[in-house]
Amino acid sequence: MKAAAIIVAGGSGKRFGSQIPKQFLNLKGKPVFLHSVEAFASLKVFKQIIIVVPEKFVPMTKSVIAGNAVTRQSEAVSGGKERFDSVKNGLALVQKDTDYIAVHDAARPLINKKDILAVLKKAVENRAAIAAEKTKDTIKTVKNGFVTQTLDRSVLWNVQTPQIFEANLLFKAYGKKIAANTTDDSMLIEKSGIKVAVVETKFPNFKITAKQDLESAKQLLK
Ligand code: C5P
Repeated sequence: MKAAAIIVAGGSGKRFGSQIPKQFLNLKGKPVFLHSVEAFASLKVFKQIIIVVPEKFVPMTKSVIAGNAVTRQSEAVSGGKERFDSVKNGLALVQKDTDYIAVHDAARPLINKKDILAVLKKAVENRAAIAAEKTKDTIKTVKNGFVTQTLDRSVLWNVQTPQIFEANLLFKAYGKKIAANTTDDSMLIEKSGIKVAVVETKFPNFKITAKQDLESAKQLLK
């Protein structure tokens, strides 16, 4: 079996509020994005690792991955305006004989190899699978500052990455004209009528969005 991983690190990190996008900040002696790249690159089934970064970070990313024994076979390509554009740029490099494609947010550096393999296994069984965790909070919809609805928590999940799909499903989904606001890849696969399997992650896999998240990741890696 031949799998490819697209690690998306093409965002500008506006919400994080630092000069350098969050995926390039230091986390335990290496840039945030390198943690995920190492996790995928150390799994033999991933024959191709593609890192998508903002254009001006391409040379730096190439030199970081080339200087690391685990990641030196990886490739770096420039991203696009939206996450969707970045995934699309990464997909353009995926070799055509690839069976499965994983898409992972570089902003989730804690991803554990066991969780990656659990999602891959489900994807092989079901064609499409995503990492997620049960929602801990009560979720309400709010409009103009007032609650409009309280959702049934027992069916709510916080969706994460990796999201892993049969390669032809993802190629086909990205070949179509896509509506704006695609916040994950599963949305596109769901729209094509495929049932996406959900795998509950067993290890922390939160997304670094605010400074506090980076501190929490540092503590966990201590
Ligand atoms: O902004 P958000 O944290 O939701 O982004 C999720 C992931 O998608 C991040 O790893 C980010 O770097 C990536 N991304 C991208 N290209 C964009 C926007 C986001 O690769 N244009």
